[in-house]
Amino acid sequence: MNKKELEIIKEKALENHIPIIMDDTLEVIAKSLKELKPNRILEIGTAVGYSAMCFSEYLQTGGIIDTIERDEERIKEAKINIKNVGVEDKIKIYEGDAVEILPTLNEKYDMIFIDAAKGKYPFFLKESIRMLSEKGIIFADNILYKGYVLSDYNKHKQRTAVRNLREYIKEVTENPNLETEILEVGDGLAISKRK
Ligand code: SAH
Ligand code: MG
Repeated sequence: MNKKELEIIKEKALENHIPIIMDDTLEVIAKSLKELKPNRILEIGTAVGYSAMCFSEYLQTGGIIDTIERDEERIKEAKINIKNVGVEDKIKIYEGDAVEILPTLNEKYDMIFIDAAKGKYPFFLKESIRMLSEKGIIFADNILYKGYVLSDYNKHKQRTAVRNLREYIKEVTENPNLETEILEVGDGLAISKRK
């Protein structure tokens, strides 16, 4: 894995305002992946491949990341990036809307990273629980959305997103089979495991 190239991709993504994973969020996830040694990872929201490439370092030998992206430009860029970093044998991109692709998947995943349309988080959660392995962990990025989610702010134009993120939190905390913590790293990170 070409780490220098990965660093260049990160800088370019930041310059272009692509919402890649924040350093403190990545640090938390990396720490848990080191322990977990996942065989299969599912990512919803590839963008230009940055987080998937970071996660790929922690896969078991022969492990795979399935990642979903619907934006054609970003898919194109992600493919080039993944090749340049030399991890193309570890990352498979599913091209299209995750709402349509997720129901077609039937793997068991040790780690699932939800990082796409906020209004779809409750649906992504349902599909993620269905495919979560026994030891699996679900991470949901941007769960606090600039603080809107825990405030009583309702008039923001992103209120559908906020409502659905609140719904996600309600579901993970009320689900008797899950244990969840919510961390104020980055834009908020929800971490759910099976009890
Ligand atoms: N995980 C990436 C950042 C993802 S940004 C990283 O940290 O490097 C969120 C991405 O999700 C965007 O590129 C957006 O196009 C994509 N996306 C949003 N909703 C989606 C959906 N319903 N299906 C597929 N991709 C989606
Ligand atoms: Mg994010």
